[in-house]
Amino acid sequence: MPKLEEASRKTRKVYGYFNNHFHGYAIENCIEFMQMLKIAERKHEEIKKRIIEYNLYGASEWGGLKIENLSDEKSLIWQLLLKVTDLNRIRRGVRISDKELRIQEFSGDIVKARIKEYTVEINLKKRVLRHNCDDWRKGIEEKRLCKHVVKVLFSISPEMAQRILKSMIEEKDKWSFQDF
Ligand SMILES: [Zn+2]
Repeated sequence: MPKLEEASRKTRKVYGYFNNHFHGYAIENCIEFMQMLKIAERKHEEIKKRIIEYNLYGASEWGGLKIENLSDEKSLIWQLLLKVTDLNRIRRGVRISDKELRIQEFSGDIVKARIKEYTVEINLKKRVLRHNCDDWRKGIEEKRLCKHVVKVLFSISPEMAQRILKSMIEEKDKWSFQDF
């Protein structure tokens, strides 16, 4: 951003190039950039939503669940989740039934939950995430979330989920992913 601002002071036009990709990430990134520069209009935000919707939902396999039916808060969680895991894990997480989840503690910076036969513990203040499924263990090193953590994050308050995810993305190095 500072470099861009500097360039814009020195010349009348500044051109930006985004690497093209079949998923439309270049367009999405371009609009994100416009949002950061506060020059994005409503139509740009609509386009971004459609790209995200397409990438997330593909066909109709979501059984009527459409991103436009989600609140802005929840659709932001989708976008953030995509930075810490992949689409398949998000899809599998969403499909876990509410009956399989029990939030045991949800206060301040702590979330503790039982999901299926596993446990998820998130301490936002200490930036520690503990969990114990096999897929989780495989993703510990690269700090990639599994479907259970996706489900927990999508089930707590959107505000808390956003705080956790933003911290994981912006302060990735400070987070410790642990096994029980
Ligand atoms: Zn898991």
